Parts: sequence; C-alpha cells; structure tokens
Amino acid sequence: MWRLVGSRQSILEDPKVKKSLPRYVGVVKGELRPKFVIAKNMVVDFDSDTSTEDLWNIHRLVLDEYNEKERRLDGLEAKLPDIGGANSFLDLKLELGRRVMTSCHLCTRRCSVDRLSGERGYCRCGDEFSVSSCFPHLGEEPELVPSGTIFTCGCTIRCLHCQNWGISQWRESGTPTKPGRVARIVESLKSQGCRNVNMVGGDPTPNCWLWLRTMKDVSVDIATVWNSNSYYSQETAELLASFIDLYLLDFKYGNDGCAETISDAPGYFEACTRNHLTADRHGEVVIRVLVLPGHNECCTGPILEWIEENLGPWTRVNLMFQYRPEWRARERQELGRRLTREEIVGALEMAERAGLKNLVR
Ligand code: SF4
Repeated sequence: MWRLVGSRQSILEDPKVKKSLPRYVGVVKGELRPKFVIAKNMVVDFDSDTSTEDLWNIHRLVLDEYNEKERRLDGLEAKLPDIGGANSFLDLKLELGRRVMTSCHLCTRRCSVDRLSGERGYCRCGDEFSVSSCFPHLGEEPELVPSGTIFTCGCTIRCLHCQNWGISQWRESGTPTKPGRVARIVESLKSQGCRNVNMVGGDPTPNCWLWLRTMKDVSVDIATVWNSNSYYSQETAELLASFIDLYLLDFKYGNDGCAETISDAPGYFEACTRNHLTADRHGEVVIRVLVLPGHNECCTGPILEWIEENLGPWTRVNLMFQYRPEWRARERQELGRRLTREEIVGALEMAERAGLKNLVR
C-alpha cells in the first residue's frame, strides 16, 4: 500500500493546489463526498418510457438541484439518505448514456453507429471495456499520485505523434472487461492507497457509459478523474457533470487547422473550449498543454491566452516539454524532432505574458 507521506502528502497543502482544486483535495482527504456518490443518492423520478428529450430536460433540472445538494453536504456532517430501490441521478445518467450508445455521439465525431448492436465507429470501441493495464501511476501530476489509472484501448482522434499509439490505435486488443469487474479493480486501487480513479485511454470518451455503470457498482469513496483529449460531445459533457471531480484535460491546439492535419480532429477548438468551460463550471480542472515543435505561435501562445482569459490566471496548467517523435510523427517535417531550448523558453515566456500563475512544477 502507498502511504501518503512527505512531499506526496504536503502537495495537498500547497496553497496553489488548494486554491485551484479545493474540492478535489477535500475528497482525497476524506472530508468531502465524491460527486458520483452524491449522484447515486439523489432520487430522480423518471421511467424508461420517457422520451429522450424529456430525459435530458429532467437531467438539466436535476443538475441545478445537485449543485445545491452538494453545497449543503459540503457544509455538514454529511449523512446521505438511503434511497432504497428508487431511481437515482446516476441511474438517469445511465439511461441517457445507454441511449447515446445506440446512435453513438459520445464524441464530436458523432458516428451514429449502434454500439449496443455490435456496430463500431471511428474509435472501434464496443460495448465493454478493453483494458490495457491498471496500476497506481506515479508519473502523473503530483496532486494526483498515486493515481489509480485504468488504461483502455481506442481513441476518438489520431494524433500522428501519439505516444500511446499501441493502445489508442489497437496495436494491442486489451482484455474485454465488464463494468462490474472494473468496479472491483477501482476498489482494489483505492485499498492500495490511490488518491483517485484515473479514467484514461486512448481516450475515455467511448467508455463514458461504461464508466457510469462502473461507478454505480463501486462501494468506496474515491475521487474521479476524467483524463481526456477534450474532443467529447456536449451530451457527454452533461453526463460527466456532477459525476467527475477533477477534469484532467488536454488542450492540444490553438486552431482547427493544426487539429485537423495533425490529429484528424475537425472542429477541435470549438469542442475543446466548450468542454473546458463546462468542466470548470461543474468541477475542477487541470489542463495539460503539450508543447509541439514549431507550434508555439499558432498553438501554445493562443491556448495559454485563452485559458487565462476564460478560466482565470489561477487555473492549474501543466505545460509539458517531453515531446518526442513517435508513431507517424515524421510524416510532418516539424514534428520529427524534439523541442529546442528556445522553444521551451519561448513557451514559458508565453505563459508568463498570458498571466498564468499556477503552472504545475
Ligand atoms: S465515441 Fe467512437 S463510435 Fe462514438 S462517436 Fe466517437 S468515434 Fe464514433
């Protein structure tokens, strides 16, 4: 078991971490309830005959109530009600997620395939997890580790330089795993001292419904982390609201041209910015900005400015310099090398000029 001692423990007391992620810190310390636990204990009146449009309307109304309920629970010796066999807010999300799967629009690509009838779209994901590996990850941001990371196969975009391409592009097929089994893995990771369950891929988006099912079956309190490329649909963003405690979001490109040519991700900037705003409204955010060679002016600078202007100077940002050419990166001339020292210094100066005050160190 990992023991939270020394620098690992003290990072939760770091003023910058507490300022940006106060609720996440409270959940990790066992002082506050994870959002999925609150959602599981809120009664919602609906049935399976209700139209999808009406279900979404109910979902939006309950989301407002949820925020009030969370505020009340955060201020009290929280005692959650026993809702017996009634439908919960999490059950409502499950029903909506199931319907989205029948004409899949979990991500911006909106393939409209019926994944519950065996069809597969661009990401090639099916109706159960394909788990690549799961373990207490020590290489994530310091406030996350040890992080109970579950890697799954499949991704909604194709970055030429993908460092996890063996998983994202199905070079390996993973182990087919049902949500009930993943729930036991989550509980085991918690018992090993992990601070959170880190839902990652590839990308976790194709498994959004499976994650909802998993956490319904999890019987321990644990912070939920959504570790994504930010290319998910508005519907998925709504399903994640009041389910995810900490959004660990990539902000990959400052414009659609770069997103389309490097990652085959049309409409990335609109989806990414919308999802960052929604995540910030309903949870707490750590943003990863991987600096790409030759992309400081078109991407790094505009991204950092957008973050400061829209999410504020104290947004926690991990400006990452570890780029190395992987997979098909050499198909584009500028991606075939590591960063120069000038590019690293230039990106740091851009962050300072943008006014960002909370970079992950
Ligand atoms: S999650 Fe997969 S199947 Fe669904 S819309 Fe996205 S790429 Fe298509």
